[in-house]
Amino acid sequence: ANALVWFRNDLRLDDQPALRAALDAGQVPVCVYIHAPDEEDPWRPGAASDAWRHRSLAALDADLRARGSRLRIFSGPSLEVLGSIAAACDAEAVYWTRRYEPAIERRDAQIKRSLREQGLRVESFNGALLFEPWTLATKQGGPYRVFTPFWRAALADWRAPAPWNAPASLPDLDGDPDGIPLPALRLAPGRGWDALFWEHWTPGEAGAREALEVFCDGALHGYREQRERPDRVGTSRLSPHLHFGEIAPWRVVAALEAHRRAGTGAEIDAFIRQLGWREFAWHLLHYFPATPAHNFNPRFDAFAWARPEQRLLDAWRHGRTGVPIVDAGMRELWQTGWMHNRVRMVVGSWLCKHMRQHWREGARWFHETLVDADLANNTLGWQWVAGTGADAAPYFRVFNPVIQAQKFDPDGRYIARWLPELAPLPPPIRHAPWRDAARVRSAAPGYPLQPMVDLARGREAALAAYRAMGEGD
Ligand code: FAD
Repeated sequence: ANALVWFRNDLRLDDQPALRAALDAGQVPVCVYIHAPDEEDPWRPGAASDAWRHRSLAALDADLRARGSRLRIFSGPSLEVLGSIAAACDAEAVYWTRRYEPAIERRDAQIKRSLREQGLRVESFNGALLFEPWTLATKQGGPYRVFTPFWRAALADWRAPAPWNAPASLPDLDGDPDGIPLPALRLAPGRGWDALFWEHWTPGEAGAREALEVFCDGALHGYREQRERPDRVGTSRLSPHLHFGEIAPWRVVAALEAHRRAGTGAEIDAFIRQLGWREFAWHLLHYFPATPAHNFNPRFDAFAWARPEQRLLDAWRHGRTGVPIVDAGMRELWQTGWMHNRVRMVVGSWLCKHMRQHWREGARWFHETLVDADLANNTLGWQWVAGTGADAAPYFRVFNPVIQAQKFDPDGRYIARWLPELAPLPPPIRHAPWRDAARVRSAAPGYPLQPMVDLARGREAALAAYRAMGEGD
């Protein structure tokens, strides 16, 4: 008997519960991927995600072929495609791992119902999270809104699934249905903007494993201190691999635990806590599905954002605000599809507070350009930065980007890397070039001599708007 294994954001073979279900039932797994971006609206994958996915699917297909199987690719609508392939290959079951984006949860529930009505056995599994959103609840039975109690409850409940390795050879169907070749999906953006990304990343399961090993052998050992430093490789850079499900989070935890010994325990706990924020983000999104577009805290519905100003937004997007730490972050994003977490907070604060542009503008741009763009983490991150979120920084805490740069990039090495025009200048001027405009004019012609928004005035205007909303002081 045959079973369809529908791959989604679980582009791996080990710890792949849908694949495992087919094998455990003695069925031939027919591995399919369906391209149906419009089913994810209003948050269809952005261009950076498409570029990553294209490579990750190629890696998955190669891994399947090495085991005697292959990936069959189709273009949506998903329900019709699943129904017709199941009929064509006489499948008796369809398996997938769950996704939790609101639009996709709705779609999947409908697909499950319809396929069952057609007489198929349909099962879905957890492949992405340590704790599925509905498995943790407060004493009152509701969702958590604050991270620390959420995480305390999660750890108390912790039962790691046993790792599962896919067999070295997989059965496959003979012949049809064949699907379409990967390039026909045109997932990779045509303009070649992502060309520079691949110096930094290897999409796919093997790339995820390698990133994990590199982290466990290196940055893990100084994670607590170094994770705040954009000028160092202080974090795991696992975020896109986790987003696309190229590695299971419990496999990451198991690898870290294998390194637990005197001296590493606190680093490991700090790292697992960050994975906890990812869990918390999905918990919040599940219970508050409107939050990708609406303030978590409705009092901010009365906040006077400035009118969207194209000139400010364009300068921010392309790293031309005149504030080096902000510009360096935005250029790192553009050139690598990723940005350091500390810098995400700084560029976010600049957009939402000094520029008083709506956080949604930032969330949209990140969604389009991050290779780890993730509806839950991105929503949590932006609402946190804007001060509108569940467990968020208060709005009145406005980051001073110069102090942030001095603290977390003290030698200006991060700034010099992404803004090479500022590299000839000494660190204090790299942090705040307007302090020596004459020197900047000669050494870095073209770099703005003043920030687009004055630091002190921008901060005051933001706080005034906050007070006007009735929340200040
Ligand atoms: P590490 O420090 O090595 O952390 C390990 C893993 O823990 C990460 O891969 C990630 O899965 C998770 N994690 C770490 N920090 C956070 C966090 N603050 N919130 C949720 N999960 C976290 N992360 C995304 O994965 N996708 C996004 O779209 C995204 N958008 C963000 C937007 C803003 C405005 C901010 C402030 C943060 C955003 N983050 C997002 C969270 C964080 O910046 C990234 O997860 C992190 O920088 C990824 O790098 P890393 O894998 O090296 O992190």
